[in-house]
This record gives sequence, structure tokens and C-alpha cells, in this order.
Amino acid sequence: MRLIMLGAPGAGKGTQAARLAEAYKIPHISTGDIFRANIKGGTELGKKAKSYMDQGKLVPDELVCDLVADRIAQEDCKEGFILDGFPRTIPQAEALDAALSGMNLKMDAAVNVDVPDENIVNRMGGRRACVKCGATYHVVYNKPAVEGICNTCGSELILRDDDKPETVQTRLSVYHEQTQPLIEYYEKAGILKTVDGTQSMDAVFEGIKSLLG
Ligand code: ADP
Ligand code: AMP
Repeated sequence: MRLIMLGAPGAGKGTQAARLAEAYKIPHISTGDIFRANIKGGTELGKKAKSYMDQGKLVPDELVCDLVADRIAQEDCKEGFILDGFPRTIPQAEALDAALSGMNLKMDAAVNVDVPDENIVNRMGGRRACVKCGATYHVVYNKPAVEGICNTCGSELILRDDDKPETVQTRLSVYHEQTQPLIEYYEKAGILKTVDGTQSMDAVFEGIKSLLG
């Protein structure tokens, strides 16, 4: 199964991608996580990406496309993969199509997790991320067992800089301008599946599984 998770920042793509990856036993590839790991590791890529991310803007396509093309060509992606946070622009979607056709492959579905802007502000303001493993929680909807501590690895949970209210508005505008056109792109390609992302996490998960059949 080769899946794309579409939706606004904070719509629940990462939450659902992690569950789907476990259910279908395929890798969860989050470009945001890859950039954050590079920032933490002090790599050249991390240094280049950081200034865009801090401002809530997209990292340039040329820094993302080859990285994803290389990742999906790896052995563990043979049985499929879930892309979370990629593609985010039409040129990225075209680059993905080109990389896949070079391998004689196609995406099976693009799952649009549909959540209106008014819910997004609440989701992102309450999101807490683990500094070490990247797992995400919510202060109301998905609390960790111990406040401020990751259930999985025991590290500290933080509010991401780009989840602060002033950056959330920019990220939403960027989403509407640059990423939302992908909904039509994948509708035309005949692989778009839309789920109501305002439901509970379990209901969204069940909804996606039934859409995937
Ligand atoms: P994305 O990957 O799309 O940016 P996340 O999966 O990180 O979004 O979710 C954003 C925030 O909203 C997180 O704090 C997450 O725990 C919470 N969240 C995700 N799905 C739901 C849901 N269905 N109901 C309530 N909160 C949710
Ligand atoms: P995310 O974790 O998916 O919310 O991504 C966090 C940030 O990383 C985004 O706001 C962008 O700055 C950057 N980013 C992640 N994926 C991409 C992508 N496919 N294209 C451009 N920028 C990206």
C-alpha cells in the first residue's frame, strides 16, 4: 500500500500515519520529522531548512524532492509506505510521480484529512512533541500518561516553535496557497479519499481503513 496523507498542518496526518504504518506494517515517512532530525544533528540540510521552518514557510522543493525519491527507493519501502507532509506543492507531486514511474510504481491513495481552520488553531496550540522520538500528543485530546513526558521514550515534551500562534497563521496561509491545490491534483488522478478529520482519533482511523477497503 502506497499512501499520501494530505491535510492542513495539525489536521492529524502524523497521528493517523503512525497508526496506519503499524496496521499495514509499512514505513511512515514524515518530511517534517526528517528535517527536525537534521536540525538536531546539525547537518547542512538542517541548517538550510531551519530558517524556513521557523517562519512557518515551506522548505524549497529542491531540498525535499530528491530526499524523498531516495527514501522511497530503499528496501523497506518495497511493500509500500506512507508519506506524511509530502508532497506539499504541485512541483513536489510531479517529482513524486516521476520518481515512481521510474520504478514502475504508482500511489494507491491520497487520504485528505479534512479539518476546518478554526479547529486547526486549537489542535496545533495543544500539540506537544517529544524532543527525542518525535511522538506527538495533545494536552486535551491525547494526553501522555505523565504530564510533559513521552509515553514511548520518557523524554521531555515541548510546544514546537512553529506551533506558536503567530506561526500557525502563516502555516495555514501557506497551506491554502501551496498545498490545497493537491486535493484537485489527486482527485483528477482518481486516487483521492476524503475523511472527516474533526471526529475522534479512533473514528478517523476507522474511517480511513474503510475508505482504503
Ligand atoms: P499533522 O501531522 O497533520 O500536523 P498531528 O497528527 O500532529 O497533525 O495532530 C495535531 C494535533 O492534534 C496533535 O496534538 C494531535 O494529538 C491532535 N489530534 C490529532 N488527531 C486528532 C483528533 N482526531 N481529535 C483531536 N485531536 C487530534
Ligand atoms: P510538519 O512536521 O509536516 O508540520 O512540517 C514542519 C515544517 O517542515 C513545515 O512547516 C515546512 O517548513 C517543512 N516541511 C516539511 N515537509 C515539507 C515539504 N514536503 N515541503 C516543504 N517544506 C516541508
